Amino acid sequence: MNRYSIIHEKNPREIVLLRGRGCRWRRCSFCDYHLDSSTDEKANFELNKEVLSQVTGIYQHLEVINSGSFPELDEQTMCELLAICRDQKIHTLHFECHYLYRKSIPALRDAFAKVGTDLKIKIGVESFHYEFREHFLKKGISEKNPETIAENFNECCLLFGLTGQTIDSMITDIETGLTYFERVCVNIFVENSSCIKPDKSVTRAFTEHVLPLYISNERVDILLNNTDFGVGE
Ligand code: SF4
Repeated sequence: MNRYSIIHEKNPREIVLLRGRGCRWRRCSFCDYHLDSSTDEKANFELNKEVLSQVTGIYQHLEVINSGSFPELDEQTMCELLAICRDQKIHTLHFECHYLYRKSIPALRDAFAKVGTDLKIKIGVESFHYEFREHFLKKGISEKNPETIAENFNECCLLFGLTGQTIDSMITDIETGLTYFERVCVNIFVENSSCIKPDKSVTRAFTEHVLPLYISNERVDILLNNTDFGVGE
């Protein structure tokens, strides 16, 4: 599996896929990537250290993903990340985080601010339609108000290509994301081992009618395949 890549287009940055102890929530109906995890923290650190050794600081801008949330990374990996940010003068670092860990975010921001790194925390919201998100996707975000959800977070991920979504609902989700978050990352759902299946008619509607509206928007990343950032499998 490729765990290091460089994104040269919108918001240029290096990106690493690290391994943590596994997603604590683990209930999202569409997800199987939490399987990239291990409870062996020593082995995780060895793997993560090797991946992080590839970071050059080319853009002084780094994104860390770990098929879960940053608190699921081991302590040594976090120390290594702090050292890399300090030594390579990384000005911006992105982490993923589930809503349930939102109270851990301010302390992390403070820790990285001490080495001069600004954190951008990304939450997988998938949709702002509460019933769809919580009853169908089982996302585990109890809050309905997008402004309140955004309080601790800078960026959000949306998931499209699912039965029930429409051109209007997808545009509404993106516009809501752009209103309350600095950046939006749209992921098109691709078949995996979960019981949810992609809806090709929704993906087609997205590609024909929604994609052209946002393809040039610097605040919107669009991943038609979940490996488009160059990491994962
Ligand atoms: S929070 Fe993320 S990693 Fe965990 S189950 Fe949901 S989508 Fe998967």
